[in-house]
Parts: sequence; C-alpha cells; structure tokens
Amino acid sequence: MSPLLITSLALAGLVAGPGLRAVIIRYAVPAGEPARRCCPACERQLMARWPPLPPDGRCPGCQQRIGPPALAVEVTAAILLGALAARVHPGLVLAAACWLALCAVPLVFIDAAVRRLPDPLTAIAYAGTTVLLMLAAAASGHWHDMARAALGALALAGFYLALALISPAGMGMGDVKAAASTGTLLAWSSWRLLIAGGFAGFFLAAVYGIALLISGRATRGQQIPFGPFMIAGAFLVILAAG
Ligand SMILES: [Zn+2]
Repeated sequence: MSPLLITSLALAGLVAGPGLRAVIIRYAVPAGEPARRCCPACERQLMARWPPLPPDGRCPGCQQRIGPPALAVEVTAAILLGALAARVHPGLVLAAACWLALCAVPLVFIDAAVRRLPDPLTAIAYAGTTVLLMLAAAASGHWHDMARAALGALALAGFYLALALISPAGMGMGDVKAAASTGTLLAWSSWRLLIAGGFAGFFLAAVYGIALLISGRATRGQQIPFGPFMIAGAFLVILAAG
C-alpha cells in the first residue's frame, strides 16, 4: 500500500468530479428524452463552459441546484479511487478498477435519479475495463484470468438477463449491460469473488428495501433502482477481498 498512490488517486477523483457531474446532468433525463444541455429552471446553456456546474451543483445563472448535492460526486469519486489504490494491484488491474469506478459513479447517481443506466456509459465502462484487463493479462501472461473475466461477464450478465425476462419491472436491460462490467472485474480475481459480488448487490438492495418498508417510506411492490446496489456490492467485495 503506497500513501502517495492513495493520495494521488483520491485527488484524481476530486479533479474528475466536475466532469462526472457534467455526465450526470447530461444523462439524468427520462428515457427517450435528449441529453440535457440547459438549466431546467432558467434555460441557461450549461455545456458552453467548463465545468458546466461548480462542485456545489448550482446553476451559475439562477442558483437552482441541478443534479446531485454539493460535493457528493467529487467526494464519492475521491473515496472510491483512494480505496481502490489501497486494495487493488497490480497497476493495470488497478487502472481497470479505476476506469470502472469513474463510469460507475455517474451510473449510480443517474440510476438513483431517473432509474436508467444509459447505454453510452455502460458501453464505455465495459470496453475500458476489458481493454485494461487484457493489457494486464498481456503484461503478466495470466490469460486464464482474462478468460475467467470474460466468462464471468457473460455469466453475470446472463443471470441478470434471465431476471429481466422473468420480471421486466424489477430489472432492466441497463442492469444487464452494467453487470457485464462488474462481472468482468469481479471474475478477473476469482469465481468466488464473482458470486460474492453478485450476491452483495441483492443483499444491499434487500436491506434498503426492508429499511424503506419499516420506515414507512415505501409501499410493497414499489420499484427501486437496482444499479446502485449492484455497483456498490461489486466494489465492496473487491475492496474487502483486496
Ligand atoms: Zn438556471
């Protein structure tokens, strides 16, 4: 564990925050609507300047908050990248985990806001994670790990596809596509991690659902977005396994 690497990656997460925030406000719109470019309150063009929104998430024109609360994205990305730096090695596998993390943070916020996991994000998450792990396999000669990662992606995505076909209201195609990425990274380590990571997602979603029911904030049968739990479960297991 290198304190310098942990600090550097945590800082990288902070610096990436405004970019991730821009991705979130762009894609956190209902399915079928065009990507958001303007403030919904005052119509001010947001994408003309960089970053589109300051870290407090407020429109520079009308001060209305758009998207996640102040610093939520920036701090989440910093903690996640710092924690991965402490637990994941070697370097190219860490790079793959960080790539997935930088795609996963906007996916979590977007799914929580509008219950969807947009295709452009799940696609670049999968492509980048796979390419970086292929480089890791080429560097180490551990192609059997890469083969297991590819099969793990198929297995986890296939499992979610079966669930989506059985219960389209509970699971969507976005979840299936996101599972291909988490499955790749989890199975790179072992089959055991893939199973643990998959299970952790359902466990977290169940705990959250029960908490909502007990607190009276949800009704039986209400749908909750599954992506945040799938992603949180995968990263918690990866960090715990180290
Ligand atoms: Zn505005």
